[in-house]
Amino acid sequence: MNSKKPSALVVFSGGQDSTTCLYWARERFERVVALSFTYGQKHIDEVRLAEQLAREAGVEWHCIDLPFVGSLSSGCSLTDTSLTIEAEKPADAPPSTFVPGRNMFFLSIAAVFARERGIHDLVTGVGQTDFSGYPDCRDAFIKSLNVTLNLAMDDEFRIHTPLMWLDKAETWALADELGIYPIIRYRTLTCYNGIVGDGCGQCPACQLRRRGLEKYLAAKGMKDAKKQMQS
Ligand code: ZN
Repeated sequence: MNSKKPSALVVFSGGQDSTTCLYWARERFERVVALSFTYGQKHIDEVRLAEQLAREAGVEWHCIDLPFVGSLSSGCSLTDTSLTIEAEKPADAPPSTFVPGRNMFFLSIAAVFARERGIHDLVTGVGQTDFSGYPDCRDAFIKSLNVTLNLAMDDEFRIHTPLMWLDKAETWALADELGIYPIIRYRTLTCYNGIVGDGCGQCPACQLRRRGLEKYLAAKGMKDAKKQMQS
């Protein structure tokens, strides 16, 4: 018996988190659609990479251009080429990589796009465990937006956040369970400086990714060693 649900749309950037979510969705839904956005980000190549990864995963891919999202606010180092990215996030403000409203715009547009195609399950890779300072990655925001979308369109959307309560090490573990460790490790783009795989190693995204990877590999090494001792 096939227990898969009919269809889902994944908000997809080609990074570690959303790629893990893409394969998570593929295990649970018959039809998966990946939706990427351009919003004036510096590293526009990430969209080409997202397209490639989606095609290799055998899912339908679409891209919507939202240039205004990046231009509405100033001071974001992901969209403003004159700014560099700080290594540490400031204690009392969101980091310079915060794009105000980004997830709200993306998920709202994704819902309308999905609804047109008879899809009501939306998947996003946001999480609040390794809280990066982005308010729109938090569970309260996602739940609130889910209610708002249902009211806005008199419909029943379900926003899935498989990574909400996982830390980066657990996200690596999930990728391994899904059989996509090499894809996530070597093909995805998380680095704010636009370097695929292990990235630049310096930016906050690379540091978070690497710390999680080291923690995961250490735990896995211990498990494997124990198994060997028992056999
Ligand atoms: Zn980096």
